[in-house]
Amino acid sequence: MASKLKKALTRLVDAAKHLNIDPIILERWASPKATTHARLTIQMDDGSHKHFPALRCRYDDTRGPTKGGIRYHPSVTADEVETLALLMTVKCAVVDLPFGGGKGGVQIDPHPLSKTELERLARGYVRCFAHVIGPNRDIPAPDVNTNATTMAWMADEYASIVGEWTPTVTTGKPISLGGSLGRDDATARGGYYLLQFLAKDLGFTPGARAAIQGFGNAGSHMAQLLESAGYKIVAVSDSKGAIRCPAGLDIKKLNAAKERNGGVTSFASSDGVSRIAADELVSVDCDLLVLAALEDMVHAGNAANVKAPIILELANGPITLEADEILKNRGVVILPDILANAGGVAVSHFEWVQNRQGDRWLIEDIHARLKTKMEEEGAAIWACAKDKNITLRSAAYVHALSRLVDAIEAKGT
Ligand code: GLU
Repeated sequence: MASKLKKALTRLVDAAKHLNIDPIILERWASPKATTHARLTIQMDDGSHKHFPALRCRYDDTRGPTKGGIRYHPSVTADEVETLALLMTVKCAVVDLPFGGGKGGVQIDPHPLSKTELERLARGYVRCFAHVIGPNRDIPAPDVNTNATTMAWMADEYASIVGEWTPTVTTGKPISLGGSLGRDDATARGGYYLLQFLAKDLGFTPGARAAIQGFGNAGSHMAQLLESAGYKIVAVSDSKGAIRCPAGLDIKKLNAAKERNGGVTSFASSDGVSRIAADELVSVDCDLLVLAALEDMVHAGNAANVKAPIILELANGPITLEADEILKNRGVVILPDILANAGGVAVSHFEWVQNRQGDRWLIEDIHARLKTKMEEEGAAIWACAKDKNITLRSAAYVHALSRLVDAIEAKGT
């Protein structure tokens, strides 16, 4: 079976066909600039030691320091991290941030770990990769199963290694340590601004019925934003299962139930809410399907069951190549990850700039800047898709690739 990376690269190669690009230039992206592997050892609370494979990939730094999250998940492999780092390279170019792409991960299920073990894991990660990351070199952020607290521990560990507080070494930090206002819901908000902006062109009625796969940071914030804009959230899922409510879920109450009991399915006892199988979520009857879980969730085996005419990708790589083709032939419009979830890294950039300036911007300014960014890039990609008669995903790749190629040509290498 082709690696995830090889499959992901076909999207770049296809985009190149629309741009008349010298194939020699494309060869540079066939593999990452560098992937560093480490064995991360932590002491558990009972005094024993455990070892976990850990990685950091700097895929490409043509346009600036590499940028991308760190995830903790049992499925983390070099192939996955490199694929996600390639996506970050393209994503940062899509929304014109002065960053390249990177990603990191630890192959671990963090859920059984205590808070002190999690802290040792975060600090251990930085000790493994202190020579790889850096404020102008490679800047981590939260991703699956990591959060602001993880970034605080990481920045603090980095400070003790280099001997000075260096807030620009991570983004997504707590506000009290230089984190940006608006970073917590930025991924969802960017996708939401894009959706509202393109609604008319898409022939989509804002306020319609939405189903959301994944109820972590991105999915739960999206649910809140959509609900406050009058959308009905008719189904949601998380790693433990899925629920459905044709009349629309009460998101505040759902969040409270999830907080209390650890999963969305605990809300199934409420009025009008029923439990459904987790994999049924993508086939729920709705107007908008938001994919906010993990990669490859819509695949050749379930793409034909999707009922929504529009899909918004808040996760990275949630639709396989095969499913993409099936959905395209069925006329389903996809707002692709590299554009639709770029709000997260866009506000990460705002945080990095604020830290460099030693300043703090107002939430109104952050929202306005994010909105402008999503609308400008969304409009350009929409126009490119119409002009070339290609999907929005292909257009986003074309848009990014032309920026990457411009940067290479400007450097002359
Ligand atoms: N993990 C997020 C992503 O995949 C954010 C990355 C960042 O802010 O650097 O886009």
